[in-house]
Amino acid sequence: MNYKAVFFDLDETLYPMGNESIKVITDRMNEYIRRSLAIPDSEVKNFREDLYKTYGTTAKGLVKNYEVDLYDFMHYVHNVDISPYIQPAPEVRALIEKIQIPKFIFTNSDRFHAIRVLKLLDNYQCFDGIIDFLDVYPYCKPEQEAFEKALAMTGIDSGRGCIFLDDNPTNISTAHQLGFYTIQVGSRARSEEADAFLSRIEDLPQLEIYSEIIT
Ligand SMILES: [Mg+2]
Repeated sequence: MNYKAVFFDLDETLYPMGNESIKVITDRMNEYIRRSLAIPDSEVKNFREDLYKTYGTTAKGLVKNYEVDLYDFMHYVHNVDISPYIQPAPEVRALIEKIQIPKFIFTNSDRFHAIRVLKLLDNYQCFDGIIDFLDVYPYCKPEQEAFEKALAMTGIDSGRGCIFLDDNPTNISTAHQLGFYTIQVGSRARSEEADAFLSRIEDLPQLEIYSEIIT
């Protein structure tokens, strides 16, 4: 098969799950919600998780239901130093650089965060483009429309012939239904619709499909 492109999720796909950077950003989200919506400390975590589950991103839930200014929220949550937590990943860089078809980041986060993380990983130069959540707004992964917008942005007519990597099983399911070859990365509950599994991105070269996209 002639594959057309690879779409990589960013957070907890290109670096291991449980990274401290996610925690500090989540803490900022909690703080924002506590202060701007006057939600008691004890309820903030559940409140945020409910939004995340219902809307795919916390930001979207806040904007839709609570008149939160999207840019104010994004600025606030990312106004924290994550550089101590993400180190260069030369092995990941090398395996991505070998891929001969277009490579895109497709993230539910924003471009500012994506660029910052990619630079800390030292693999910013490996990608042909970044599709962030504003690019596909008002949709986001796992919604089908988000994938369709991402494909349209890259000039690709269908998920068929594309490869999609993500740590989130729900995102994997939608991608599979749209015809992508899906690779679930990490240790979350496995989606039955994943075509392949990797516990870490570094193992990508072990999949047969890798040999088809590096030549
Ligand atoms: Mg992720």
